[in-house]
Amino acid sequence: MKGALKIGRVAGIKIEVHWTFTLILLWVVFLDIQRGGNLASSLMNITLILFLFVCVVLHELGHALTAKRMNIKTKQITLLPIGGVASLEKMPEKPSEELLVALAGPAVNVVLAMLLYLVVPIQTYISLDAANLENLLSAPSLQTLLFYLFIANVMLVLFNMIPAFPMDGGRVLRAILSYRMDRVKATDIAASIGQVFAVIFFVLGLLYNPFLVLIALFIFIGAYGENQMVKQTSMIEGYLIESAMLTKITILKPEDTIDQVIVLILAGTEKDFIVVDQEKIVGILYQKDIIGHVKFGSMKIKEIMKQKFRTIDKKEELKKFFEMVNKEGQRFIPVTGDDGVLEGAIDMHNVSEFLLIRSQLIN
Ligand SMILES: [Zn+2]
Repeated sequence: MKGALKIGRVAGIKIEVHWTFTLILLWVVFLDIQRGGNLASSLMNITLILFLFVCVVLHELGHALTAKRMNIKTKQITLLPIGGVASLEKMPEKPSEELLVALAGPAVNVVLAMLLYLVVPIQTYISLDAANLENLLSAPSLQTLLFYLFIANVMLVLFNMIPAFPMDGGRVLRAILSYRMDRVKATDIAASIGQVFAVIFFVLGLLYNPFLVLIALFIFIGAYGENQMVKQTSMIEGYLIESAMLTKITILKPEDTIDQVIVLILAGTEKDFIVVDQEKIVGILYQKDIIGHVKFGSMKIKEIMKQKFRTIDKKEELKKFFEMVNKEGQRFIPVTGDDGVLEGAIDMHNVSEFLLIRSQLIN
């Protein structure tokens, strides 16, 4: 993720902290000062937040390591002020597997809460009256810290299990629904419920807590995005690359100049180009690179074409294109036929067009 600092690696998974995370530390100190706190109480609260986020990382590792057992890799775990995000390569499609991956995170916090329950005299705290409890909790001590961590882990379980897709509880809901209906419908229902929760969180957040507003936006956008993705994937199910590929493309030679390509860009709608030398694909020329070199009209394109690229076979499933875009970020891919001969190209724009046409045929 952009603006994130790598802090370590666990079981091959990169752990990173986003810069906005420092905002939560400032926020905690700000609240503490407002409450008339001192240096000791501020340090205590910062320590608490740091420990809390260790619990969050363990929660995310619960998801990631369970997914790993199903051969799904996790790119990284990122800490944001609103919590942790484990970027799984994809979600398991089998309901039983998604159920396990979704539950594994909160399960970690259940275990942590149980361990803390053994060390902290929770019963004593609970039996105190409000004034005494407040007195005890306002004094910075290890015991108090652990008590707060216990509460935090219980809250993490309860909050994450709210069925607000794509939060854990929402994923559990989708998995359970998927046992009874197809995944597209299950996602649609879970995402709608998620968006209703997002609206509730948003309103509550405006009244009580700005972080809840952020979580609400995160859920709302996440639910929409994932719902769209599942719908799209189901629409392209069974189709091959060749049914959505561009076949009328202009092929460039390494010796062509930037001026020549600018004429092509203006004359047509093509943006990115494939460069071929003696029937071999040698590079891809992206529009943004051409625009960046407009001043150097006589420069040969071989100087600025990207020589690191992937190609895709026309008989591959269309799904594979999305996987490649997600994994490698290459949005324009040369399509090859028998013996690796160039036959066309595929990009997001054309696949969107394909989806648009498909959706009209379905409705
Ligand atoms: Zn989780």
